[in-house]
Amino acid sequence: MDQAYPQFERFEDLQKREGFHPRLEFHPQGERTMGEVLWPYKFLDKVNCGISTCRQLHYHGYLIKTSDGLETGIGVDCGRKHFGLKFTRQRQRVDQEIARQRRVRSIKDLIEQLPSMVATLTQIKTDYQDLQDQKKRLMGAIGPGIYAELKQRAEKDGSKITRSVQLTGKDLEAYYATTNKLRGRRSDAPHREELVATLEGLAFVKARIKDLLITNLLEPLHSLSKCKPGEVELWKARELQKTAKWVGEVPQSLIKAQELIAAGRKFFTSDNIVNLVHIGAPEGPLAQFVSDLKAAERARHNSDRG
Ligand SMILES: [Zn+2]
Repeated sequence: MDQAYPQFERFEDLQKREGFHPRLEFHPQGERTMGEVLWPYKFLDKVNCGISTCRQLHYHGYLIKTSDGLETGIGVDCGRKHFGLKFTRQRQRVDQEIARQRRVRSIKDLIEQLPSMVATLTQIKTDYQDLQDQKKRLMGAIGPGIYAELKQRAEKDGSKITRSVQLTGKDLEAYYATTNKLRGRRSDAPHREELVATLEGLAFVKARIKDLLITNLLEPLHSLSKCKPGEVELWKARELQKTAKWVGEVPQSLIKAQELIAAGRKFFTSDNIVNLVHIGAPEGPLAQFVSDLKAAERARHNSDRG
C-alpha cells in the first residue's frame, strides 16, 4: 500500500487494467470471494457494481482484488453487505492511506514552492515591521484612550465620522414643509447627521496583525523552509493532518496579508491621519506625525517620478 494512489478519471481507466472484469460471480454463485481492497474511484457517470447478482449503479466505489487474483469495482454499501468487516476495515485503511498521501503531497508542494516565494514573504515582513513602527508612533501621538476608541470604531465598521447639526434656514423650512410636526421653539429645532470625514484602512486597525502575518503565516513558513521534502513522509499522522490543513489555507492567508498591508498603507496617509482630530486626538502631537507622513509621501512621490 505504499504505492502512489492511481487516479481513476473514468470507468475506462479501470477497464484498461489487466485482470479487470466489469462483472464477476462471487460466493455463493461460485468459490470466489474478496481478496483485498485496492483503491477508491469516483466518476461523473454511474457505473454498475461488479458483483454479478447486484449490478447496482454507483458513482463512488472501490476497486478490489478477488481471491483468485482478478479485479472488479464495487460500491461501498455492496462491499459492506457482501464482504462485511473485512471490506470495511480494508476500505478505511485505504482511505487513510490516501488522505496521508494527499497531505504529504500538499506539504511537499509548498516546501518546493517556498524558494519562489522568498521575495513576497520578505516584503510582507518589511511591510509588517514598517506598519507596526507607524502604529507605535501613532499610539504615542494620540494616546491609548483615543487609540482604543479608534479600535472600537474599526470593530463596529465606524469609518464615517459624523456630527449632529441643528437644521437652520432652508433646511428647517423644508423639514416643516415635509412633516406634520408643529414648529417648536428654536432650541428644539431638529438635527441631522453631517459627515465630517471618512477614515480609510480601518481593517488594519481592526485585525490582529501579528497573529495573521507572523504567528500563523511567516513563522510556520520559515520552519517549513527548513524541512527537507523527504522528511515529510516520516511525520506522525496528527502532525501531517495539522500541517496539511494549514498548508491548504496558505494561499488565502497570503491574499489576506496583502489586503491588510494595503489597508495599513491607506490608513497611514497624512490625509487620513489628520482626520483623527475629529475623534479627539490632540492636535499638537498629531500635527507632527502628519507632517512626517507628508514628508515621506513627498519623498515617495519624487522617487516614483525618478
Ligand atoms: Zn453491488
